[in-house]
Amino acid sequence: MRDTGVYYDQEINSVFKELGVSEAGLSSEEAEKRLKEYGVNELKEKEKASALRLFVSQFRSVLILILITASIISALLGELIDAAVILFTVFLAGVLSFVQEYRAEKAIELLRSLTSPEATVIREGAEKKIPSKELVPGDLILIQTGDRIPADARIIKEFNLKTDESSLTGESLPVKKSSEALPSETPEADRTNMVYTGTAVAYGRGCAVVTATGMETAFGELAGLLGTIERSRTPLQESLDKFGRWIGIATLIIVAFVAMLGVLYGFPLFDMFLWGVALAVAAIPEALPAVVTVGLGLGVRRMVKRHALVRKLPSVETLGVTNVICSDKTGTLTQNKMTVEKLCVNEQVLKVTGVGYSPEGNFFKGETKVSVDDVHLQALLLGAVLCNDAGIFKEDEKWEIKGDPTEAALMVAAAKAGLHKTELDKEYPRLAEIPFSSERKRMTTLNKVEADADNFPLNGLVAFSKGAPEVILGSCTKIFLDGEIKTLSPEIKQLISGKVREMADQALRVIALSFRSLAEDISPEKVSSGGRPAEEIEEDMVFSGLMGMRDPPREEVKTAIQKCADAGIKTVMITGDHKITASAIAKELGILKENDLTLTGSELDSLGDAEFEDKVERISVYARVYPIHKLRVIDAFKKKGYVVAMTGDGVNDAPALKAADMGIAMGITGTDVSKEASSMILTDDNFASIVAAVEEGRNIFKNIRNFITYGLSAHIGEVLIVLIAILGWRILPLLAVQILWINLITDGLPPMALSVEPPDSGVMRQKPRNVEEGIVTRREIAAGLGIGGLIALQALIILTWALDRGFSIEKLQTLIFTLVVFSEMFNAFNWRSDRYSIFSLGLFTNKPLVYAVLTTIILQLIVIYVPLFQTAFRTVPLSLSEWGVVLALASTTLISMELVKYFSGRSHKKKGYGKINSG
Ligand code: ATP
Repeated sequence: MRDTGVYYDQEINSVFKELGVSEAGLSSEEAEKRLKEYGVNELKEKEKASALRLFVSQFRSVLILILITASIISALLGELIDAAVILFTVFLAGVLSFVQEYRAEKAIELLRSLTSPEATVIREGAEKKIPSKELVPGDLILIQTGDRIPADARIIKEFNLKTDESSLTGESLPVKKSSEALPSETPEADRTNMVYTGTAVAYGRGCAVVTATGMETAFGELAGLLGTIERSRTPLQESLDKFGRWIGIATLIIVAFVAMLGVLYGFPLFDMFLWGVALAVAAIPEALPAVVTVGLGLGVRRMVKRHALVRKLPSVETLGVTNVICSDKTGTLTQNKMTVEKLCVNEQVLKVTGVGYSPEGNFFKGETKVSVDDVHLQALLLGAVLCNDAGIFKEDEKWEIKGDPTEAALMVAAAKAGLHKTELDKEYPRLAEIPFSSERKRMTTLNKVEADADNFPLNGLVAFSKGAPEVILGSCTKIFLDGEIKTLSPEIKQLISGKVREMADQALRVIALSFRSLAEDISPEKVSSGGRPAEEIEEDMVFSGLMGMRDPPREEVKTAIQKCADAGIKTVMITGDHKITASAIAKELGILKENDLTLTGSELDSLGDAEFEDKVERISVYARVYPIHKLRVIDAFKKKGYVVAMTGDGVNDAPALKAADMGIAMGITGTDVSKEASSMILTDDNFASIVAAVEEGRNIFKNIRNFITYGLSAHIGEVLIVLIAILGWRILPLLAVQILWINLITDGLPPMALSVEPPDSGVMRQKPRNVEEGIVTRREIAAGLGIGGLIALQALIILTWALDRGFSIEKLQTLIFTLVVFSEMFNAFNWRSDRYSIFSLGLFTNKPLVYAVLTTIILQLIVIYVPLFQTAFRTVPLSLSEWGVVLALASTTLISMELVKYFSGRSHKKKGYGKINSG
């Protein structure tokens, strides 16, 4: 294969020959062969950390290193058993945290694989979507506005194609492209018949043949930018780091103090040192960030199942605090399954019958069937078919569509009158087009119409336009009425506007159509290449009629919006559609309530920033807006302290998706550019999935907070026990190895199990958490101190009880050791929820926790009863009555928390807490 730089100076035929491809594209076998030869179309990434390296990195913490050193010293001093036990527990803890980190890595990898891009190719004469990485040189690719160019390619056909090459060259203005061969020696930057990997289509569409893939592309050198998932630390991890440091310092001070005291009281120096390090290791929550990543990663997995694909881990947290969701209407709140129900031609409103996309149905005026041969109807529908890029086809006895559903609906209506695109496209070929965009709100094509064609009133070069009624009407000076082209008087214009309102009031989306004849001197090539301004063509047009289509709301959306209201989240509809249509649908869905306002884009333009901010909380619907307006909405909400989620699909939505706290792109209809700018992608384009993701986001936060509080209470308990026992009784209540074991058990399995606790019914009944609020608040610290204090108290009770009976120090330590382990197991059940009784959640609804607790109990029994472990952990067997005391005391951990939940639940109820709030 030749160097990619040389395809620009050849005619298309010779490029085809050179690359061994025809207009039908490559065959599957050939593509497969080339894939083997050239490799996958991917940019190579930096080496990933190997599993071994990840494992070793678990032992890098200073405390662990001190502990390992201490165990070596122990061994040298002849304490071989201690040394072995310490090393063993350190190793086990390392394995556990490795497993956590490894799972976290896997979660991130999963994100990457799910967000890998696709490309549209022509292979064996048919259009299909394939993963971009399977592209090979010679593949024909179809590109359109918003697509990321998947490989370097030579353009062979284009309509108004412009690309944004800023990622490659830094040039911020879109570059106009053409398919013409260029002179040799054209500098690389001026090779306008080539498109390059990593750049994006800013406007228009085209077909190109791939000339280079993967690292061979111009972008290969700048590798690593595309499709990567940001690995930034999340705010949660940051705040946990801070919290961890704080705890660390506090622990070290206490431990150093106690150890010194121990030495003063006559305990051996080295024992106290070892013991102090063990206690510090136990109390410092260094594994927390990894556990949190796993928590977030697991949440991401659950969200995928609920059709929400989070692209960056921190977004999971943002979802939990989101309090405004701004959503597009078409396709997100509605089904995007459009059916034309009404038409307005020749000043008459007609009803269209039929269901779905099936091209069967009739036209009625009142009760009377209208002949499809009516010239006005024919003129309207001819425009609807020609100025249209969609398709309808039958698959498995069912009618399906491809392309834009709005256009498909027009096509289905035309087919009901016998006008079919495949035939008409041949009869009246399209010579040029000015594409639709959300800003223009219209689309125009130039077609060649034969004289007397199907009673159409014009012939020659004809422009057909369709779009938003006010835009089309604004460009019309004539109307096709009573079989003639007449002047469009202000009275008739008003009458038509009245019909638009009437249709919109019935929640119909209204499209207006028009046409005009063009002098033959307007060269279509020039129009296509953007040389002729659209305004010159889209003026002085003939109005041909209106088409009103129904797009039913998605069934699940109404409930989802109610759920948002209960959860204190405001839903806002932002749409390019007509104000009245939008309001009608918003009312139906419960978004637009009494006293809420609807604002159009131009009304928004006329408001000053301050005035707008004053109103923003009352506005529920924005209609006829441009993507740029979304930025103002985001800004106003942010200034008021809201956390804003915003949806978008078009190429021009990218700035808004970036500016929002949570940019949400559409997986099915969204452009690559919008997906890349987003923090989350909805794989089913459905509003309800946003709400599901918010629920998961809140739940993850709740779970993380719960297992942190669990760990906190455990650590506080341990430190308090030793502190009080040494100060008050001059007794070492737990040995270093026992402390390490408790640490292994409390930090090991239960937090993993707590992180998979499913959402409870309260998650979406509370107001969103304040963004400023950290993960550990006074409430968590109070809970930690409370339960930690309780565990210490239990230990002291058993200590005095044992002393009274004159038990040996080994028995005393075994009792406290076992008590703490069991108390922690009861405590783990406490932290499944901070407000609901474990009995109302169901004892066995978190199976992993049940297994984790059972495993721990079995391990503890082994430690107490198996001789080898008895020597290692200096334990002795317990009698039945001793077990009774241990269990009775340990169970108070659960009982007291249940009582707290019960009474605080009652007082919450009195204060109206937990009540459904809508604000
Ligand atoms: P949303 O912003 O909620 O997705 P929308 O689909 O109505 O709503 P746009 O796609 O920006 O928003 O469309 C704006 C308007 O342009 C529509 O209300 C319609 O009148 C017109 N329109 C939509 N699609 C086409 C099209 N393919 N050709 C011509 N006009 C269109």
